[in-house]
Amino acid sequence: MVLKYCVSGENVIQNHMDEITLSIVIPVYNEEENVGLLYDELVSALDGKYRDLEIIFVNDGSHDRSLEKLNELHQKDKQVKVINFRKNFGQSAAISAGFDYCSGDVVVTLDADLQNDPADIPMIVGKVREGYDIVNGWRRDRKDKFFTRKIPSFFGNKLISFITKVKLHDYGCTLRGFTREVVKNLTLYGEMHRYIPAIASRIGIKSVEVPVNHRERKYGSSKYGLGRTFRVVVDLISIKYLLSFSHRPLQIFGGVGILMMSLGFISGLYLTFVKFFMQEGIAGRPLLIFTVLLIFLGFQSITLGLIAEMLSRIYHEGLNKNVYSIRNTIGFNDENLDDRA
Ligand code: UDP
Ligand code: MG
Repeated sequence: MVLKYCVSGENVIQNHMDEITLSIVIPVYNEEENVGLLYDELVSALDGKYRDLEIIFVNDGSHDRSLEKLNELHQKDKQVKVINFRKNFGQSAAISAGFDYCSGDVVVTLDADLQNDPADIPMIVGKVREGYDIVNGWRRDRKDKFFTRKIPSFFGNKLISFITKVKLHDYGCTLRGFTREVVKNLTLYGEMHRYIPAIASRIGIKSVEVPVNHRERKYGSSKYGLGRTFRVVVDLISIKYLLSFSHRPLQIFGGVGILMMSLGFISGLYLTFVKFFMQEGIAGRPLLIFTVLLIFLGFQSITLGLIAEMLSRIYHEGLNKNVYSIRNTIGFNDENLDDRA
C-alpha cells in the first residue's frame, strides 16, 4: 500500500491507493439494461483505489443491445474493454476468455446482472492481497427463487463439497477474487466455473470464503432453470475424475480390467475342470457366458485405460484448449494480446 496525497483545489485529500493492476471480468448474456448501471456502480466502488483498472466485459453472444451498450461504455471510458464472442458459449467459457485476456495482478469476476454488489470488490481484493490465491464470495442471504434455485443449490453445494473435499458453503457465486497466477492456469468449460476452488486445490492453492451481499435481479431474466442441476452433476463426475485419476487413468481402468480378467480366468479354469475331469457338458451353463463376458470386458477396460492414459498425456501437455471463439475485441492493445495465456 502506498499513501498518496492528491491536491485538489484548496483541499488535501488523503487517498489510499493500492499499487496493483486490477482486472474485473464480467460475463454478459442479454444484459442490456444492466451493463450501464453496473459500470456506474463499479466506478463508484473502485475509482482511484488502484494503480490501474481494467473492466473486461465478455459478450457471450447476446442478441439484445448489450454489445452496443458496451461499445458506448468503451467510448466513454478506455478502462472498459470488450471481448465479443461469435456465439453463446456459456458463462464458464466467458470467464475463461476474460482470464486469458486480462493483465491484472489481481482479477475479480462478477455477474453482469447486478446481483453481485461491486461495493464488495475492495474487500475481496484486500483478501487476495493478504495472501489468499482465491477468495470466494458466499451469498449468505441469497436473493433467488426458492424452489428452482435455492433448494437445488443447497443439495448441489453439499454434494460438491462431499465429492471434491473442498469445503465451501457456496460454489455458485461468481463474485470471486484471484491472483494472476491462478487465472492464467485455468481453462473452464461447461459448468466448470463453480469447480474453480476444487480444480485449484490440486495445485495447492490457498483459498478462503467471505460473505458477500446478494441482490435481486431487477432487469432481464435469469439464464438458467432447473436444467442446470443436471449439467452441474455431469460436470461433477468429470471433475472427480480430473481430480483423482486424471494423471493415471490406467490405475482405475486397468485395475478394474485386471480384476475382471482374473475372475474370468478363475471361472474359466473351473469350467475346464468340470468339462475334462468331471466329464460334464458346460455349453448351457450361465457361468460360461459370465466367464466370457468377464474376460472380454476386462480386456476392454484395460485398453480403454491405455487410451485414456494417452489422452490425458496429450491434455496435460496442452493442446489448443480454447473453448470459445472470438469475433472481435475492443480496447485491448497488442501488448495485452501478447500477454495471453
Ligand atoms: N451468462 C453468460 N452466458 C450464459 C448465461 C449467463 O455470460 O450463457 C452470464 C449472465 O449474463 C450473468 C451471469 O452469467 O452475468 C449469471 O447468469 P444468471 O444471472 O442468468 O444466473 P443466475 O444468477 O440466475 O445463477
Ligand atoms: Mg444472476
